[in-house]
Amino acid sequence: MQITAAVFRDDTLHPKIEKLTLSGPGAGEVLVRIVATGVCHTDMKCGSAGSPVPRPVVLGHEGAGVVQAVGAGVTKVAPGDHVVLTFGSCGHCRSCQEAEPAYCWHQFPLTFACTRADGSSYLHDAEGAAVHGDFFSQSSFASHAIARERNVVKVRKDAPLELLGPLGCGIQTGAGAILNDFKMKPGQSLAVFGVGALGLSAVMAARIAGASKIVVVDRHASRLSLAMELGADEAIAAGSAPVTEDVLNAVPGGVDFALDTTGVLPVMRQAMDVLAPRGNCGFVTSPWNGAELSISVRHLLLGRKVRGIIEGNSNPDVFIPQLVDFYMDGRFPFDRLVKFYDFADLAKAFHDSEEGLTVKPVLRAAA
Ligand SMILES: [Zn+2]
Ligand SMILES: [Zn+2]
Repeated sequence: MQITAAVFRDDTLHPKIEKLTLSGPGAGEVLVRIVATGVCHTDMKCGSAGSPVPRPVVLGHEGAGVVQAVGAGVTKVAPGDHVVLTFGSCGHCRSCQEAEPAYCWHQFPLTFACTRADGSSYLHDAEGAAVHGDFFSQSSFASHAIARERNVVKVRKDAPLELLGPLGCGIQTGAGAILNDFKMKPGQSLAVFGVGALGLSAVMAARIAGASKIVVVDRHASRLSLAMELGADEAIAAGSAPVTEDVLNAVPGGVDFALDTTGVLPVMRQAMDVLAPRGNCGFVTSPWNGAELSISVRHLLLGRKVRGIIEGNSNPDVFIPQLVDFYMDGRFPFDRLVKFYDFADLAKAFHDSEEGLTVKPVLRAAA
C-alpha cells in the first residue's frame, strides 16, 4: 500500500514528506493507521549527526492509532482496536521474562537497527529503494506504521486517541521512574532536574504517589511555572552555577529521590549530590559519546543508590492503560504538556521543542 511518511535522508532534522510503499503486516506484525504521534527528544538525537541510526529512515516512536490489519499469529489485538505504540522487546530474554521489558537484552537492535530481524525493509521509496523503518519497532512519523505484537498496547476507546501517543515513551518514562522504579511512597521527597515532558510527568506521578515535597530545577521559567501548577512545591531556576545548595535548603538533609532528565554530566552530578542517606538517584537519558561521570564513593556509601532507568521501567501492557485511567480520572493531566502540529510542520515541532517553546509536540498524522 501507499503511505505518506517523513523520510530523514541527512542529519539536518528537515525530513522530506514522501510517498512510500509499505508491505505488510508480516507474521507477528500489526499494521496501524496513525492518528497522531508525539515528538520525543530521542527523535531529534537520532535524526542528528552522531546517531547510530541508518539513513534514509522514518523516525517517530510515540504513535497512537487504529489497528488496520494483523499478521499471522497475532492474537493480542484485532482490526479496529485503539492502540498506543511503545518500545519493542524480544519477549524471551531474562528481563522480558521477568516483566521488565524496558531492559530487554536486545533493546539496542530492536530500537535502532531499523530493519526487520532478517534485515529486510518493509518500506520502499518512489524509485524502489529501501527506506529504513522499524525505528523503536514502529517508525510512526507516517500515515501508517508497522509495529510488532509486543509493542502495541490496546487502550480504552473513550480516551482521546490523538493525545495518547506520548504515553508510549516520554510520558511513561517520567511517570514510570517514580511509580515503577522508585516506587515512591507517601511522605517521600523528590528533586527533578529538567522539567520537560519527562520531568513534568515525574512531578504529576509523584503527586499521585503522595510526595511530601517536590523540588524542580530548570532553565526555562515557563516550565518551572507549569511544574508548580502540576504539583511541584518549589522551583529553582538553573543558571551557570550548581543548585545543590538551593535544593538542600529546600529539603534539609537531602531528598529521598532525585531524577535527572537532562543527560548533562554536571547536572547529573548535582542530582547525586542532593540525595539524603539511602536516597535513590535515577538517570533516564545519556550522551551518545559514552561520557563517564565522577562520583564520590564516600557519598554513596551511606546507602545511596544511582541507577539508569529506561522507559520508566514500564511493563507497557500494564502501565500505559493505567496512565490512561489516571488521565481520564483527572489525576494525570498530561494534556497540559501537549501542543498539536500539522504533519508537514515536523521541523517546526523539533525547533519549538529544542527552544523550550513547546513541552510535548504531537503531530497529527499525514492524510
Ligand atoms: Zn527481551
Ligand atoms: Zn522517546
